Amino acid sequence: MEPTLVVFSGGQDSTTCLMQAIAERGRGNVHTVTFAYGQRHALEVDLAEAIAKEQGVASHKTIHVDWYRDITRNALMDGTTPIAWAPGAATPNTFVDGRNALFLLTAAIYAKGLGVRELTIGVSEADYSGYPDCREAFVRSMEQTLRLAMDWPFAILAPLQHLTKAQEWALADRLGCLDYIRTRTLTCYEGIPGDGCGRCPACKLRAAGLDAYLRGKAGRA
Ligand code: ZN
Repeated sequence: MEPTLVVFSGGQDSTTCLMQAIAERGRGNVHTVTFAYGQRHALEVDLAEAIAKEQGVASHKTIHVDWYRDITRNALMDGTTPIAWAPGAATPNTFVDGRNALFLLTAAIYAKGLGVRELTIGVSEADYSGYPDCREAFVRSMEQTLRLAMDWPFAILAPLQHLTKAQEWALADRLGCLDYIRTRTLTCYEGIPGDGCGRCPACKLRAAGLDAYLRGKAGRA
């Protein structure tokens, strides 16, 4: 099986990607990379490392991009700024300029060193929350750029690209890891794992998706 490198944050999306990659290829063909970029909650990095270890991936790497917060401002990195989406603004203030481009470029450099051609990233545009670097057009363009930049046949897999949060929970359920993802991962902007604070936009999106999936499932039963 083709090995893959999962860009892994320890959140719902990338953990679902990780579990799917393991189910498809076996843990020996799955590598993970986590970025420490000055996010609000350093716990996120530790949690990603712990999940990678629990899942027995072939390798896990944490890459520090400490300088990132020195050159850009957003609520995700600045713990003193309340999370908000200003009326009329193109993106919520948790948007981090260039994040997926930086992560994919850095992951690709690392992957080539490992001899790995495939990168997996958990972006989705279905519950589109205003992040331009979650769009399919960006992902395909980045794939082309990485190939040209390094003369290496990179492929970027974005298995959640067109899944809503409810469909993503359905996928987790099919993979037999719904409860694991529900209790173990961190999506909350306040840094509370599992069901989180229940109030921030990330928690609301996650909870609404889970609720929609579980209601649909109960209706079919
Ligand atoms: Zn929350």
